[in-house]
Amino acid sequence: MTKFNPLLFALLFITVPAIAAPNAINEVLERQRQHGFISPSLAVEALTAVRGDLAGAPVELRMRYHNQLALLYIGAENAALVKVELDELERMATDEKCVPCGQYKTVRQAQQAIRGQDTAASQALVGKLEAIASADANLMQAVHYVRAGHYDTVGLHARAIEEALVASQLAMSTANPAEQVRTLNVLMLANIGRRDLVRAESLSKEAFALAERIGYVYMMAYIRANGAWIHSLKGEHAKQLQALNDVLKITREHPGLGDSELVALVNLAEYHYEQKSYKQAVQLATQAIALADQQGKPVAKGVVMISLGQSQIELGESDKGVQSLQTALVLLNKAGAKSYVMDATRGLADGYERAGRHKDALATLHAYVKLKDEATLREREKAIAEAQEKFSGERKDNEILRLSLESRGRQAEVDARVWQQRLWATAALALALGGALLMLMIKRSRARNRVLEDSNAVLSDQSVHDPLTGAFNRRHCVTLMSQHEALLASKSRDRNYSAGVGLMLLDVDHFKHINDTFGHAAGDAVLVEIAQRLLGLVRQHDVVVRWGGEEFVLVLPGTSAEGMAVLAERVLQVIGSAPVVAEGKSIPVTVSAGGVSYPLLPGQPWQDALKVADVAMYMAKESGRNLAICLITIASDTAMTTLVDDLAGAVAAGKVLAKVIAGPVAQVDHGMQVSI
Ligand code: GH3
Ligand code: MG
Ligand code: MG
Repeated sequence: MTKFNPLLFALLFITVPAIAAPNAINEVLERQRQHGFISPSLAVEALTAVRGDLAGAPVELRMRYHNQLALLYIGAENAALVKVELDELERMATDEKCVPCGQYKTVRQAQQAIRGQDTAASQALVGKLEAIASADANLMQAVHYVRAGHYDTVGLHARAIEEALVASQLAMSTANPAEQVRTLNVLMLANIGRRDLVRAESLSKEAFALAERIGYVYMMAYIRANGAWIHSLKGEHAKQLQALNDVLKITREHPGLGDSELVALVNLAEYHYEQKSYKQAVQLATQAIALADQQGKPVAKGVVMISLGQSQIELGESDKGVQSLQTALVLLNKAGAKSYVMDATRGLADGYERAGRHKDALATLHAYVKLKDEATLREREKAIAEAQEKFSGERKDNEILRLSLESRGRQAEVDARVWQQRLWATAALALALGGALLMLMIKRSRARNRVLEDSNAVLSDQSVHDPLTGAFNRRHCVTLMSQHEALLASKSRDRNYSAGVGLMLLDVDHFKHINDTFGHAAGDAVLVEIAQRLLGLVRQHDVVVRWGGEEFVLVLPGTSAEGMAVLAERVLQVIGSAPVVAEGKSIPVTVSAGGVSYPLLPGQPWQDALKVADVAMYMAKESGRNLAICLITIASDTAMTTLVDDLAGAVAAGKVLAKVIAGPVAQVDHGMQVSI
């Protein structure tokens, strides 16, 4: 259902007649709908050229006109012109009683807030968007698209994906390929946010292919730049370089794409610095600086001057390097770009030392340490504040978020990384929604990179993923659990493990029946969707495994037995409360699950704990399915054989305290509740 279907698309083209008013405005709008545009400035030009035809045009056409211009100006970050278009929509809403005019205005206002990273404003506006329920599929497409953007920027990736999927369906049903490209792009960003890089990459390819097919050059450059980001996260250097060079090529072959060209140059300079090809880094940085000057982009200039300065130092030109870094620092301080200031400061300390200016080096190092302490504190506070906000906002999520809050408190180091990435994602998303630049998608910190590369070495290994669902495979689970087991056994055992490693085994109920009734392909689609729902549910460092067939395992480090019971309820809900829609059919699905927190008994091999989870799962099956059984406490004198051979007996004898959680009673179809 997430997959773009070219055949369906072609059919829609044929069966949905273009609203062919013999009107120049309609023609331009329709062209931008079918083909996007080469650059926002060219698109604005095409629209302003037909502005004269507005007089006498029907209200619906004028609305579409002003909406499209507002969208383009948001991309160009031209607040004054955005206001002109929004004011006109507002006027039409009042004077001409045009209800959708007011709704489009809200949509674009929200988009502007997201792009400006004004979370408070976008939160309020998204509240208004939630209230919009219209029969106009074009309007609803825009509504869901912007909602997706909002949820992604605030870190609710699963929610963002849900919204983007609806937006994508609507883009198809309204025969709007340009929006389909943009929606696929947001879907990709949400998957990057969730660290499902395999899926993100496949979406990136799909989005690029469609953009190329319809000639949406602007998005081609942008999607490729995001592709470079994915490759950098996966540690695929050669592919990252190729993608950045593609961006450069595209932007140089077309007019009006200077913004994206600058992004590519800044990233390329950084790339070559990291790869130790310093001469190339200097050359690219010099080009980037010229372009940044031309475009009046001080942050981009400051950032690339860090790469320049550091490369000059490596080439033995310490004085030049120090000078570049000093300039970078001035520019970045002035722009208030704090995280980059930190990197520039550290680079400068290094430069002073290499130039033999030890006193300056020491003073700068002190400044750096101070900045770093402040930043760590800020990141932690921000993480906790946001988690708390979600905590109060979504009652249903309380327990999960409490767990997440606890684990965040424990993992300052990981947090810093996550927030750095969040920042990056926010900038990238702002670009996706708006149009023009400000994606200084750059990892300045080498230390941080190393952390990333370590974790990405695992992610980049295709052999750890199940090809059907994108979940991790059994092999990876075995490796992972062996690591957990070793850690638990070692002296380095820390507080992270005091709660144990949660293990949950899930098995789809009556899956044979699903295959028999709806076909094997539909069965496959059910498995894909279940994996998606599980991925959307768990925390970033939890792991969803396709154990085999229609069985999944969840590995949840730091989750106690009580925590497993809370999670079990959410799992049953997320799977059981909405049917899976596959091949046009609505398929009710439930699962049965067994949950434990490893180790159940001291010194236990992990396989034993999983075996007990399996026994608990079968108990859930026997008790009627759509149930989870979690083992909360186990008497210390209980033998493993008792647990495996007679769990029910052990429960009856009071040796084991088990909690039975029931899934939702009946399935309500609220997966696709948009009325179109
Ligand atoms: P129960 O609730 O008792 O688990 O009933 P069930 O029908 O799910 O029972 P069982 O575990 O025996 O059936 C699993 C079925 O899943 C059998 C197999 O054909 C099917 N299956 C396994 N892997 C796949 C797959 O990748 N795709 C599809 N479509 N079916 C699969
Ligand atoms: Mg089975
Ligand atoms: Mg089954």
